[in-house]
Amino acid sequence: MTDYMTVQAAERILGDLVAIPTVNPVGRPWTGTQPVERAANDTIAGLFAPYAVSIERQAVSPMHENLAVTLPGRSKAGCLLFESHVDTVPADEWLDRAFLPRVEGDLLYGRGSCDDKASLTAMIMAALDLLERGLPAAAPIVLLAAGDEEYAQTGIKHFRAGNIDVAAGIFGEPTRLMPVVQHKGTARWDITVHGRSAHTSRPELGVNAILGAMDLIRDLGVYQEEIRSRYRNPLMTGPAITVSMIRGGRTRNAVPDECTISVDFRVTPGMHPLAARDALIDRVAGLGLELSHSDLQIMTPPLDTPVDHPFSLHVLEICRKIAGSQANLCGEPYGTDASWLSDRAPALVLGPGDISYAHAVDERVSLTEVVACAQIYREIMLTWAG
Ligand SMILES: [Zn+2]
Repeated sequence: MTDYMTVQAAERILGDLVAIPTVNPVGRPWTGTQPVERAANDTIAGLFAPYAVSIERQAVSPMHENLAVTLPGRSKAGCLLFESHVDTVPADEWLDRAFLPRVEGDLLYGRGSCDDKASLTAMIMAALDLLERGLPAAAPIVLLAAGDEEYAQTGIKHFRAGNIDVAAGIFGEPTRLMPVVQHKGTARWDITVHGRSAHTSRPELGVNAILGAMDLIRDLGVYQEEIRSRYRNPLMTGPAITVSMIRGGRTRNAVPDECTISVDFRVTPGMHPLAARDALIDRVAGLGLELSHSDLQIMTPPLDTPVDHPFSLHVLEICRKIAGSQANLCGEPYGTDASWLSDRAPALVLGPGDISYAHAVDERVSLTEVVACAQIYREIMLTWAG
């Protein structure tokens, strides 16, 4: 019998997955001939092939696919979803070593080692351990190796559209084994200030769109402070409005007739990104500027699982038992695929690794933490019946 709950198993499975590049082009030109996740999904499917499980590939787009492995449970209740993403961000700055996994002491280095193949490995280890020992899960388990988390989240959205009965979900991301119950959502779009051009020798004949944008940006700062005092959340910082790009003017000797800013609006649990955007649009309409708003480039709801939900408390108890008494239900400012389950079922984000190593050069994860996480996932699989 293979023992999957060991550092050696974690090193082998994670090392194999890191050695397979699954780089999401994140909006850049793409010339691939198969989904970026395909080769890693082949490896995962191979690990489950000896067992009586259903293995389903879900074609999301020519660029992305999901792999879903379903284990039967003792109850016929809704399933417990374990989701991690297979795609990674590019590794342009360290291509010489990013896909050559190396182990130093307890740490495994390589692109995706932390974000997100560590969580994926821990989920695979936990599921394989149950299968190897013939231990049935309490509820049916769907292990979803999702595509395209790093750009447009089309993998989880495709899964969601399938309307599978999900009773609760664990989303693996680097949280240092802390169960995250809530995080922010996002609305992102462009606002253009319109003016009137004129020769710069007679600026009084024009309307300067850049000066208008300055008024707009100043007002967004005031508005951020207002909503921060209105929407307080003990688990995270308040809502944030960031002007992340600006473009304006055509030539050096003309009053600019147009200036466009990009707005990244992070909303906290209890706010809806669409309603928050509408409220912002209403407010800035009162500034006396001529404005137009682009379509949304990104809209993700916040994760909003109650801290006193039985699923939250159950997972917390297991984390404390296995990872230590310092474990606590947390909130985070960033977003994850868990946003796309939050309105239907309780969802938590939980995984090994530190987010500060994600997307960074020499990304790494502790292998003993991967094993501890696999033990936590395994215990949840054995005990949560919905
Ligand atoms: Zn991730």
